[in-house]
Amino acid sequence: MIIAVDGPTASGKGTIAKALAAHFGLPHLDTGLLYRAVGRQVLLAGGDPDDQTDALAACGFPDALLLEPELRSEESGGLASRVSIHPKVRAALYERQRAFAMQAGGAVLDGRDIGTVIAPDADVKIFVTASTVARAQRRFAEMQAQGRSVTLDEITADLAARDARDSGRKDSPLAVAQGAVVLDTSNLDRDQAVAEAIRIVERARQNAD
Ligand code: C5P
Repeated sequence: MIIAVDGPTASGKGTIAKALAAHFGLPHLDTGLLYRAVGRQVLLAGGDPDDQTDALAACGFPDALLLEPELRSEESGGLASRVSIHPKVRAALYERQRAFAMQAGGAVLDGRDIGTVIAPDADVKIFVTASTVARAQRRFAEMQAQGRSVTLDEITADLAARDARDSGRKDSPLAVAQGAVVLDTSNLDRDQAVAEAIRIVERARQNAD
């Protein structure tokens, strides 16, 4: 079974994807981490994230980079959003994601274009979303818990910029895939959101039988 989970920044899609993977015993890939690693690698190499050639060269990042806590920062998220605009970067990361999706037994992947581009043939597609206010507050709480000094206004501005870039880009923009179920987590806590996602998967499985 392939489960595709897409949605904007801080919608809860990562938490939901991880919980679905644990519940159904499937491997999980956070595809945002790949773009974050490319963004980080561009900086480490002294390149320009807005330059497609520099960003493409950074797609050969060492796998150890994926374990760096720094990848979880807002700065890395912003860099990821800039390098992910380049079609050649998306093409370079395609095979790795596709192979993960197609492994025997299935997988859960979360990102922006899983249901539309990476696995349009997924058995279940979930588009996780939430209001900008709810997402900004969640991200703010996360950053505070990590001891990072950012304000709610900065987070809100950053989210808006990333939403605009992710939804507005020409290649694989963030969009609700055909056949996807929309899960709005604005008024749900973690456990409620996960329970709803599990129900969506079970319903899709029953319909497929
Ligand atoms: O999900 P996360 O916030 O880690 O993603 C960081 C950035 O990477 C996103 O803002 C988006 O621009 C990009 N991304 C993407 N396609 C994916 C996953 C992430 O373009 N499948």
